[in-house]
Amino acid sequence: MEKLKAASKNILRRRDCDRLLILLELLRARHDHPDAQTCHRLIQKEVPNIGLSTVYRHLAALVDNGLINEIKTDDGPARYDAAVQSHGHFMCTACGRLTDLMPITVKADYPGQIRSFVFLAKGTCHACLKK
Ligand SMILES: [Zn+2]
Ligand SMILES: [Zn+2]
Repeated sequence: MEKLKAASKNILRRRDCDRLLILLELLRARHDHPDAQTCHRLIQKEVPNIGLSTVYRHLAALVDNGLINEIKTDDGPARYDAAVQSHGHFMCTACGRLTDLMPITVKADYPGQIRSFVFLAKGTCHACLKK
């Protein structure tokens, strides 16, 4: 019985690990900075029975380990990005499109050494301006 418990624990852990990797691959394959619900919809194609709370948990684990970045947008859900090199973002507040701005150089006199920075520009994208 104990053995069975230990084995099932391992299976659970391996399953979690597989899902984590699937989620990471999925994020690395796209550049549209999906939110958690979109990630959930996408991963369901490969893992049909995965719950939204599991997706949130896995996203948090990937962020904690520095494998993905979380972009907090204030007026919407957080977005996720597998590109972890320093770059800024432009967000269209009309359609929610989030695009990369690279490279961004900030010249300022900092009282120390910078490890990461957050830059989020908000506005209206070309497509929405034409509407
Ligand atoms: Zn737009
Ligand atoms: Zn990005």
